[in-house]
Amino acid sequence: MKDLWKMPLVELTERANEATRRIHGEVVTYVVNRNANFTRVCQVGCAFCGFGRRPGTRGATSDTIDEVVKRVGKTPWVSEVCLQGGIDPDLEPAYYFDLIRALREAYPRIHLHAFSPMEIDSLCEKTGQEPEEVVVRLRAAGVGSIPGTAAEILVDRVRRKISRNKLPADRWVRIVKAAHRAGLRSSATILFGHVETWEDIRGHFEVLRRVQGETGGFTEFVPLAFVPYENRLGRILSRRNGGMDRLEERIRRRARRLYPLARLMLGDLIPNLQTSWVKLGVGGATASLGWGCNDFGGTLYEESITRSSGGRHGERLDPDQIEAAIRNAGRIPRRRTTLYGDVKNPFSLGKKSCQPSAGGHVAL
Ligand code: SF4
Repeated sequence: MKDLWKMPLVELTERANEATRRIHGEVVTYVVNRNANFTRVCQVGCAFCGFGRRPGTRGATSDTIDEVVKRVGKTPWVSEVCLQGGIDPDLEPAYYFDLIRALREAYPRIHLHAFSPMEIDSLCEKTGQEPEEVVVRLRAAGVGSIPGTAAEILVDRVRRKISRNKLPADRWVRIVKAAHRAGLRSSATILFGHVETWEDIRGHFEVLRRVQGETGGFTEFVPLAFVPYENRLGRILSRRNGGMDRLEERIRRRARRLYPLARLMLGDLIPNLQTSWVKLGVGGATASLGWGCNDFGGTLYEESITRSSGGRHGERLDPDQIEAAIRNAGRIPRRRTTLYGDVKNPFSLGKKSCQPSAGGHVAL
């Protein structure tokens, strides 16, 4: 068999498309979800991030639990809320558990996709508990699954360059495995287009394959292209690459090859490959449905992390816009739950006060 890493792009893409069609046919899924980023205070200082604010600096604010509950109430029809924030040293562990309980009480039908491995690591530090205990407590409070963010590149040499205060790769793996074993599935991500090499990407894929082989807990793989406009790393790499235009082009080229490679290297174990309209734009995300992706991601409604790095593709898409983009690519849109179940009756989702129709339910 030919080496996929050296294969010409046209052939690689054809193979990726064949593999996608074999598994998913023409269907492209998406989820109606919203983000709720509850704190911008962050002591970690990743070089690629424009969102986190050092404690005590301008814009370093956290929301109260009531504020988050109210914000989620603006979109009671979503089937998922994704909760992530900075690492605020002053936020008590009780805040995280109370936030989940409050949302669970107010919106019992909404799936809570909450807290990255970095946030769970910080909870371990604050409580003195092991990851295995913390994830069980989170599940008991009402968390339904966790985002597999903070993975960046799971190679410590690269992590030290772009986010040296972040949890090491093996700690990320331990937390994710603990979550899977506690019954909390997760996504898997990669942050690409910065200082990583193809060899690092290969190493990252190998880590994900090992974890998935052991736990089967990843729901999808989500490549995240580096957004370079308003962060330290973007400024450095722009200078090093001869300007922002050339850096953008380099990121685009990397994306173009990484998606089909991900389909072919991971698709047998992690069948769902999710594009990112926030990173690529709607046009780029639509194009990526021809590079091996079978999932369009979500509506988000409140995207602020990428926008803070200068992301230019907006903070929300309505379901109609996502469906139109999928049809434009010649594919069939299908709404899904967080865990890739069918949405039997979208109108039964959301707040307690929503009127579910008889027999309607969501397969989670
Ligand atoms: S990426 Fe997350 S952990 Fe890193 S600085 Fe930004 S908010 Fe903090």
